[in-house]
Amino acid sequence: MAEVIKLSNTAIDFKVKNLADRIDRHSSPMLVYGVPRGGIPIAYLLKAHGFEVTDLPSQADIIVDDLIDSGDTQKHYVGLYGKPFYALLDKQTEAIYKDKWIVFPWEASEEKSAEDIPIRLLQYIGEDITRGGLKETPKRFLKAWKDWTKGYFQKPEDVLKVFEDGAENYDEMIVVSDIPVYSHCEHHLAPFFGTAQVAYIPDKKIVGLSKIVRLVEMFAKRLQVQERLTSQIADALQNSLKPQGVGVLIKCRHLCMESRGIECMGACTTTSALRGVFMDKTEVRNEFLRLVK
Ligand code: ZN
Repeated sequence: MAEVIKLSNTAIDFKVKNLADRIDRHSSPMLVYGVPRGGIPIAYLLKAHGFEVTDLPSQADIIVDDLIDSGDTQKHYVGLYGKPFYALLDKQTEAIYKDKWIVFPWEASEEKSAEDIPIRLLQYIGEDITRGGLKETPKRFLKAWKDWTKGYFQKPEDVLKVFEDGAENYDEMIVVSDIPVYSHCEHHLAPFFGTAQVAYIPDKKIVGLSKIVRLVEMFAKRLQVQERLTSQIADALQNSLKPQGVGVLIKCRHLCMESRGIECMGACTTTSALRGVFMDKTEVRNEFLRLVK
């Protein structure tokens, strides 16, 4: 998972004082509205610096939040109320917080702060989060997502170990068939799954077949679109093995398409990526397609 930054109470005190100093005070007392939920503790902490808290953004002099992530919340509130917007931390301008998972002292731990995500989702879809069957769901959800996205923390170099011994004279096509693919689409976070066929023609270097399976898994365990998954596998093999060429063919079923929207049940999406001689030589391409049919 992302790198975690835990803020101490001392750090919060310092930052709140800093924030209070940054705010241009044009009336007294200044009325603060805290954006739910993260901005609310910040609004109350500002009381120690002479601010008053209001529940109504329309009456507030300023709006505060705990952090600016994408900037969308800020845009939304500025657009609606036209009030000055402040945040304790700004991921857009403060480089040290970019891509980090921030944990505030009022969140017990990074797991607890992340568990808010599935809990909010369950509430949003109308579930009763106190129901017995859902008790462990937030924990399980996070654990599963850590596994489904663990490929972000692996690099092709970690997976591909190249052999040079004994491969000098081998220049036939090597095909690894029906490699299972389990991935998630980046547009809906919905599963897509199927099989990959990966082939290459070596140029002095070969790689263990299980490494190719692991390479597919590494890229699948990220948020993906099938087209990018296919070309990432081909490029990683082409770059580390420097073979004569690579061919990758992936067929997947996408739950976001099949179970909703256009509902094309059972329809497979096929994508391919060809590099080197697989691209340049018709007979190589045809042999590949014949072998993986
Ligand atoms: Zn999708």
